[in-house]
Amino acid sequence: MSLLLATNNRGKLAEVRAMLADLPVEVLSWAAVLPSLPPVVEDGETLEDNALLKARAGAGAAVMLTLADDSGLEVDALGGRPGVRSARFAGEGATDVENNAALLAALDHVEGAERRARFRCVLVLVDPWSDAPPVVTSGACEGTIGRSASGSGGFGYDPIFEVAGLGRTMAELEDDEKNRVSHRSRALAAMRPVLRARIEDRLAEAARAFEGGA
Ligand code: IMP
Repeated sequence: MSLLLATNNRGKLAEVRAMLADLPVEVLSWAAVLPSLPPVVEDGETLEDNALLKARAGAGAAVMLTLADDSGLEVDALGGRPGVRSARFAGEGATDVENNAALLAALDHVEGAERRARFRCVLVLVDPWSDAPPVVTSGACEGTIGRSASGSGGFGYDPIFEVAGLGRTMAELEDDEKNRVSHRSRALAAMRPVLRARIEDRLAEAARAFEGGA
């Protein structure tokens, strides 16, 4: 049984694969399933809008159970920005290093509690064989933006995000530590029972079809 994760972000793919390793499902990326599909234009106003766009596009094109993640960093001093535009804070096509440098520069004169921030993740599951509406879950992880980058794990803003209560940046955590506290792991924990039920339904249907045809 395969699940399409509607992303080409290798960091997200690795995390979701690790967190779903105990379920009887192979998590595949956009590039593996739909290599020639043009990228979805993520022009939604919210994380949920964009996750819905990606999950619907993936499920429609691949006819597969499809999970989409849209996530971002909300910084208090910036009124919640970059939020839904986190991937392009330093401009369209910006690298993680450029985004981190731009955010540190934007917060240069910001002190103390105003440097508080949170990662937020919205997950959407679309089942192309079901009439049920998409399932939406979310999760957040609180922290503070540091003064410089530290650590080599994870991706995106992880090197400049100090996780509340841990005294380390997200990039200084081991993979399994990040997967216990992250916004994505919290959203996935809420999604897990639905995902498990959908996978079991699909496997039961396949077994019935096999018996019927045998
Ligand atoms: P998306 O692919 O449109 O959801 O963009 C997500 C962007 O938010 C990424 O490019 C990162 O910049 C940032 N982001 C999301 N999740 C994480 C994370 O777990 N660590 C660090 N940055 C993240």
